[in-house]
Amino acid sequence: MNQEEKIAAYKAITSSLDETFDYINNFCRDVLKTRGGRIGSGMGSLLEALWGYEMNKVLSEKGFDSCELAWFPSHQYHDFACVQASKDWNPETGEGEYFRVEAKSMNSGADESKAHFDVLNAELDEYDALLLLVWSWVDIDEYHCCPQVTDSFFANAKPITQLRDALHIERGGTFVDSNSCPDGCDTLTCRHNGEPLNEQGKRERLSGPESTRPSAKVAYAANFGGLVRMLKTRGESAKQTFRNLRRSDDIIDAYISFIHRHYPSEELNHFSVSEWREIGRNSGIDSSGMSKQEIRNSIANNENYHEIIRWV
Ligand SMILES: [Zn+2]
Repeated sequence: MNQEEKIAAYKAITSSLDETFDYINNFCRDVLKTRGGRIGSGMGSLLEALWGYEMNKVLSEKGFDSCELAWFPSHQYHDFACVQASKDWNPETGEGEYFRVEAKSMNSGADESKAHFDVLNAELDEYDALLLLVWSWVDIDEYHCCPQVTDSFFANAKPITQLRDALHIERGGTFVDSNSCPDGCDTLTCRHNGEPLNEQGKRERLSGPESTRPSAKVAYAANFGGLVRMLKTRGESAKQTFRNLRRSDDIIDAYISFIHRHYPSEELNHFSVSEWREIGRNSGIDSSGMSKQEIRNSIANNENYHEIIRWV
């Protein structure tokens, strides 16, 4: 499969996203109408799966007949593969695939998303994508509600791993080098290269070295790649790494903006009060006597808010 075919398939998917979300929301209104409506109900997984089904409907209606989405049959990391339509697909070897998609959902009423994006950079191909769905229960008449997708993010996954990994290192974390694996593996047969270890040297994924499990009872730390948590910065060096990467890459910037839009306190806390004052001053705002939140709100009235924040 050549580069041009992959790009064409990627464009087919990205240009069909809006219709797909309309279809999902229509389906939810028709079929998932209910009274009550619970969080932690598995609804997020259902919406993720629906994305694949509804996307295929849209692709076919729009005449993109050379590609379709396939659902992974077993426990591969990814949820979907965009594959060549009506041709053989081998999920083990990747034959017949244009790219893969990992789908995560976040309920907008929940404090923090449980979703983790912990695939290793080396496990991703250039066009592999990350899909994030934000959903909530919406009232549709006096008695009934249904889930609705209210916002979404779709982009190449690799740049996001770059940001995640750089901030992992800023937190004192490391990545296993198979030349010096904690399990003492032979370099050539070690399967732990690139596995993240936290600052205590404990593994973050089940596939990390056995000798680095946190305890007899806890198999792995599982903090790595938390969609919100991965953006947290402590200390000046981490902040600068975050900001440099944000400035350098549109996808990294889009990811940060998306998460901060849904978790505004994360953005508020990323900057110190004196930084907010300075950003305000540069935007012509006299922030004397204002709280951090008030300064932020004043700056947010500026139509260039996003640009101002990106280039701090
Ligand atoms: Zn090893």
